Parts: sequence; structure tokens; C-alpha cells
Amino acid sequence: MAPFDLSSARAVVDKPAPTPVPWPRALYDRCVSTHLFDLTGRTALVTGSSQGIGLTLARGLAEAGATVVLNGRAAQRLVEPLESLRMAGHRAHAVPFDVTRPEEVELAVTRIEAEIGTLDILVNNAGIQIRSPLETMTIEDWRALIDTDLTAVFVVGRAVGTRMVARGRGKIINICSMQSELGRPTIGPYTAAKGGVKMLTRAMCAEWAPRGVQVNGLGPGYFATEMTQRLRDDPEFDAWLRRRTPAGRWGDPDELIGSAVFLASAASDYVNGHILYVDGGMLAVV
Ligand code: NAP
Repeated sequence: MAPFDLSSARAVVDKPAPTPVPWPRALYDRCVSTHLFDLTGRTALVTGSSQGIGLTLARGLAEAGATVVLNGRAAQRLVEPLESLRMAGHRAHAVPFDVTRPEEVELAVTRIEAEIGTLDILVNNAGIQIRSPLETMTIEDWRALIDTDLTAVFVVGRAVGTRMVARGRGKIINICSMQSELGRPTIGPYTAAKGGVKMLTRAMCAEWAPRGVQVNGLGPGYFATEMTQRLRDDPEFDAWLRRRTPAGRWGDPDELIGSAVFLASAASDYVNGHILYVDGGMLAVV
């Protein structure tokens, strides 16, 4: 054969491609769904899940098989979400508590673990937004925001993480934001808090990854919830957002479910201290 004779290679290329054999559905389910992403038998607490992203993530984790615990400050606001999850056939409970109150958090976590089940998954999601230029931002508003959006991640994370570490396993997902990376006028304390949540995620990873607990962050871009209602109602902001986001639109909270299930499941067992941004590409483009 001549050194550069490609006839035998051509023969291989020219051969008709074999008809692909589809994976048997049962095998696919066992390998991909049942094994890697399945949350059956797991118990998850999602803070701030009376509405918005928290409620959507709770539903997503329940759809993947988890027993979920809804949370918010007011018991009354949890009634309807709880009923809707149960009506859909999911295992769901509601435990109201204020994430900024350490004693309440400790009591609630003790109660959840005694009465519902030991926590395998924690989603630190509860958050608030207060918009004001820094010159007129009051110290009360600053403290309220830092307390809810940053300190509570430590408070709830400590209560649940301590128990997970003792068991040698667990998954913690801290809800970050694009403001973990980018500043923006009028949301100074939010930016400071979310930047802090990113670094707290890494601190938790440093201490707890060696003891079997994976701690990661999930960073939404701009999503259509009550928190962003005023921005969505502002035609100027809405137009800016659509231009600025490579995907050209607002995110739908359902689009966060896949990433949350990934970070909560065995599929992410070697993922530690990572912040997964789901932002339609906004952070990738100037
Ligand atoms: P949302 O619709 O305003 O919901 C916030 C949730 O937090 C509610 O369920 C609220 O429940 C709860 N909450 C507030 N303070 C609480 C406290 N002290 N204790 C317990 N629960 C408390 O907000 P969202 O848009 O879904 O945002 C959820 C998370 O995603 C927040 O951390 C937010 O910063 C983050 N995020 C949102 C976006 C977005 O575009 N929407 C983007 C990036 C990051 P109650 O009022 O019933 O207590």
C-alpha cells in the first residue's frame, strides 16, 4: 500500500452508518434518572419557599422524588403552596420560621429532623431586596438585608450543616445572584450580601467538603418573580434587560430546576464550592 493511499479509509467513511440502537428506556431510566438525579428517600428544606424561586425549586426537588419542607415567615402563606404540592402527589410539609432568628432556626431544624426526617438537602433561598441609593440607605434597611440575605445563610447553614457533617453526607445549595459578581446602582447591600454568599459557600466547602457535605451556589440571572415585578413593569428596564441578556429574555423559575436537582443529587458528588450561574449568558458578555 502506498504511504498516503486513503482508499481503505475512504471505504470506511463511505460505508453507510449503522442504524443507531436506541437505549432501552428502562436502562436509561436506571442509569440517568433513577440513579444519578433521583432524590427518592431524600428530605430537603428550602427556605423562603412560600412563592417564587423557592417554591419552584421545592416543586422541582419533589418531582425528582424528595420529601420537601416549605418555609416562610407566615404560616398562612404556606397553606396554598403546601396544598398544591400535596394535590400533585408530592410528599410535602410546611414549617414556618424566620431565617434571621437563630433560636427559631435551631428549634425548627430540630423539629424537622425529629418529626419529618433527617435533612439530606438544604437550599438557602430566602431573600429580600431593598432598593435605594447608598447616600439615603438607612442603617436599619442595610442590617435587615444583610441579616436575611447573608447572615441567615450562615445561621441556617450552621444548624443544618452541623447535623450533616455528623452524618458524613449532605448537599447544601446557597442561592447567589449575578450580583455575587456584578455591582449595580441602588442595590448596594444586596450586592454586598450576594458577594458574601458566594464566599461563604467557599468557606463552607473548605470546612465541610472533607467531611462529606457538598456545598455549592446557584446564581440566577433575572427571573420573573415578585421580587423583580417592579423591574418587569418598567419598560425601560425591561428593554435594557432583553438587549443585555444573550438569551434575549427574562428567565422562568422552572429553568432553575435542572441545576438545583443536579446540585442536590448524586450527579454532583464531586462538585464542591462551585457557583453555577443560570443567567441566559449575561455574565459571559459585556
Ligand atoms: P420572592 O418572590 O420575593 O420570595 C422570597 C421568599 O423569601 C418568600 O418565600 C419569602 O417568604 C421568603 N423570606 C423572606 N424573608 C424571610 C425570612 N426572614 N425568613 C424566611 N423566609 C423569608 O423572591 P425570589 O425572586 O423568589 O428570590 C428567591 C431568592 O433568589 C432570593 O435569595 C433572591 O435574592 C434570589 N435571586 C432572585 C433573582 C430574581 O431574578 N428573582 C435573581 C437572583 C437571585 P415570606 O414573605 O412568606 O416570609
